Amino acid sequence: VSELSELILGRIRDIPDYPQPGILFKDITPLLADAEAFKAVVDELALVHAAGADKIVGIEARGFILAAPVAYRAGAGFVPMRKKGKLPAETLEETYDLEYGSATIEMHRDALSPGDRVLIVDDVLATGGTARAAVELVRRAGAEVAGISVLMELSFLSGRDRLDGVEPRALVTV
Ligand code: IMP
Repeated sequence: VSELSELILGRIRDIPDYPQPGILFKDITPLLADAEAFKAVVDELALVHAAGADKIVGIEARGFILAAPVAYRAGAGFVPMRKKGKLPAETLEETYDLEYGSATIEMHRDALSPGDRVLIVDDVLATGGTARAAVELVRRAGAEVAGISVLMELSFLSGRDRLDGVEPRALVTV
């Protein structure tokens, strides 16, 4: 286990029965509040994972917290993917299944250009539904998925097997 993993694992806490009974929620707010850990995470994502990327896509809402400083540090542009109805201009949208029901995320139709190399960033990879939808949106915009990076992968949910050939990278895996 690397020094960075230790730093991260010590600052993510488990919240039982949130947001529903039976779910063990990984809360990253202690990590965000720790100057050293937050910087180490952003630097690793920006200087290693984002190398060569033109655009960093962040997924609402916790993905934004990581993706925006990563874009700044990497010298790349930031593109938000948001829940349906939040973006003001014309959008592309993708609907995906949740355990109960479905969700839709959107991206501005003109946010990416054909040929853009795009790194998708989120906090947690769980079932992979959200990341899969993000891959679809990037590809529909004609851009190239350079990678999917998350702070934490919950490997028991097998999200990495649902990403249509893209190998996600996680700073820590539990
Ligand atoms: P998935 O679509 O099942 O992979 O879920 C991933 C999405 O749900 C991400 O956007 C995460 O922010 C959120 N998520 C799922 N589980 C957790 C968790 O334990 N902690 C924080 N976010 C989570």
